[in-house]
Amino acid sequence: MYRIPTRCVHAGTIDDVREKGINSPVYTSTSFGITEGEGPIYPRYMNTPNVRSVSEKIAALEECETALVFSSGMAAISTVLFAFLNQGDHAIFQRGLYGGTMHFLEREMNRFGIHYSIAGSQSVADIQSQIRKNTKLIFIETPSNPLLNITDIPAVAALAASAGIISVADNTFATPINQRPCRMGIDVVVHSATKYLGGHSDILAGAVATSGRLMKPVHETALNFGGSLNAFTLYLLERSIKTLDLRVNRINLNAMEIARYLKSHKKISKVYYPGLADHPGHLTALAQMSGFGGMVSFEMAGQDARSFQKKLRLIKPAVSLGALESICCSPASTSHRHLGAEGRKAEGISEDLIRLSVGIEDAEDLKADLERAL
Ligand SMILES: *Cc1c(COP(=O)(O)O)cnc(C)c1O
Repeated sequence: MYRIPTRCVHAGTIDDVREKGINSPVYTSTSFGITEGEGPIYPRYMNTPNVRSVSEKIAALEECETALVFSSGMAAISTVLFAFLNQGDHAIFQRGLYGGTMHFLEREMNRFGIHYSIAGSQSVADIQSQIRKNTKLIFIETPSNPLLNITDIPAVAALAASAGIISVADNTFATPINQRPCRMGIDVVVHSATKYLGGHSDILAGAVATSGRLMKPVHETALNFGGSLNAFTLYLLERSIKTLDLRVNRINLNAMEIARYLKSHKKISKVYYPGLADHPGHLTALAQMSGFGGMVSFEMAGQDARSFQKKLRLIKPAVSLGALESICCSPASTSHRHLGAEGRKAEGISEDLIRLSVGIEDAEDLKADLERAL
């Protein structure tokens, strides 16, 4: 097998036999001729040439037997949950999950008679203590949002395997460049490809990577829910993933430098970054990640989030993450607003926490912008 940067460029590319173009041809058809023996090809069945091609690229990067692309991260996540959970089943989630995943649980699960628990922390013991007789699935997200807590992936995978429970990991923050959960025993990886895989703040997409056996029910559920991705967006996603290794490695370096800069700044009271030696999950991160990613969160001494964000010129206050440009947000007024002050306090999210998604700009320019605002 080729190494990761080579896979980013070449894995899954459609061989253009007719015209010998270097890039995968884009097949926009929604109607394909019927061929003997094979089932029908149709975009919602998620079996068009471009779906198969980009899925193959993601499977190669996640080092899974197979993958499937979706129209959003939430389409991927909801399909996986409904594929494996039936009425009366129980699933375990964690604190610090992506807000949309949390909202999905609160809004949809009980309605369909599916029970769930939220483990009180990232520790494996806390997850284990929630296991019931009817537990069918454990879902983790590491690093977590926005405090970048780390869950021990091999330990969760082993716990789930020993109890016959399906383990799922949201690998959006880490990307397959920094962390490959299936290699550590996780059954199913999910992605919001809107973030680093897409990487340019211009497409919405999702992905699932797993074994051939577990993909069967996911695929069957997927075509019923209909969250398929169109050919034009697939073309952009394929193009983006070709530079994933370059982008993520640059982002890792920039984020580390900014985390160190913030750490030594007298106007900063706390920095959350798994690459820092005093981060509580640092040793676990070191064991399971090859880079620490581009998300850095911090708290300031003596300045509120609003006035800080107003003074930035280069780093824009904006939602989402994982793209070329550095952006920041205040979780208390965006992703975690719905929790209220009490809820945020319980989650350990201070009112003036800033979450930074570090881009590929020059680190000196980013530091100068932060310095000005601080
Ligand atoms: C954004 C995000 C999602 C949801 O993805 P969409 O593409 O917005 O549907 C899921 N998980 C994580 C960690 C995310 O950051």
